[in-house]
Amino acid sequence: MIQIKEITTLKAYLHSNGLKGTEKGFVPTMGALHTGHISLLNTAKKASGVLVCSIFVNPTQFNDPKDFEKYPVTLEEDIQLVYNAGVDILFLPTTKELYPTGTGKLGQYDLGGLEKILEGQFRPGHFQGVCQVMDRLLATIEPDTLFMGQKDFQQCMVVKKLLAELGSQTTLVTCPTIREKDGLAMSSRNRRLSPAAREKAKGIYETLLFVKSHLVPGTTSHLLSLAEGKLRSAGFRVEYIVLANAASLEIMDHWNGQTELVCLIAAFLDDVRLIDNMILTK
Ligand code: AMP
Repeated sequence: MIQIKEITTLKAYLHSNGLKGTEKGFVPTMGALHTGHISLLNTAKKASGVLVCSIFVNPTQFNDPKDFEKYPVTLEEDIQLVYNAGVDILFLPTTKELYPTGTGKLGQYDLGGLEKILEGQFRPGHFQGVCQVMDRLLATIEPDTLFMGQKDFQQCMVVKKLLAELGSQTTLVTCPTIREKDGLAMSSRNRRLSPAAREKAKGIYETLLFVKSHLVPGTTSHLLSLAEGKLRSAGFRVEYIVLANAASLEIMDHWNGQTELVCLIAAFLDDVRLIDNMILTK
């Protein structure tokens, strides 16, 4: 595995004769790696001739500066994990490298309605930041295939839109959410949960299962208020719990019994914000 910090070095390496024409797979991460990330790397490894992984805690996608400051950094462990997963190139850019003119005045991407709902609504500017970093990473690496997690369902939709807007040749593969034994979706932020909060955190998965098992055609508001009540009594501060069309993310107050739905949740335990989702009708 080679570690590279500069864009020009990475581009030159990827364009070197030995790698020309090799299927390039790419897994972007913010580090503090866990089994969810490793499963993306394992899937990517099987499908790629050369596997690139990036670790970069992207400042422009944090709407809350405290969240950025507290974001866990475990670089030494991460390097060992990506090496074990068979990564060929680990890209470790600095903020200066990706944002040479600073992060202050950046252009805007047209993300349509995706930016105004759910994560877009509760984390203003978050998806603009995601697009800023993805645009730079994609331009540098030009992967054939990009591997991202369903855990960040709306992010996958935003990146798909970005790829379309850029006219990119890159294909996005969405990989399933990897969970702890009790159902909690793995996340770098789980490290910040107190033991008591960690115990409560499985409530999100239990609520998703509750919605899945009680979903019937017709109005969905009653089911969602029951589910929200479950989360609250488990100790969560709920930002949203919704049912949406899994293809368009249009919020669905009524289900026709056929359209594929996704249930999406964002909720806090203490100051740790957790998100999760489940496709209900597969
Ligand atoms: P992050 O480091 O949080 O930016 O995540 C990097 C990638 O890993 C994203 O595509 C995430 O969706 C994905 N990811 C995060 N958690 C999980 C998980 N529990 N299962 C599968 N993929 C995940």
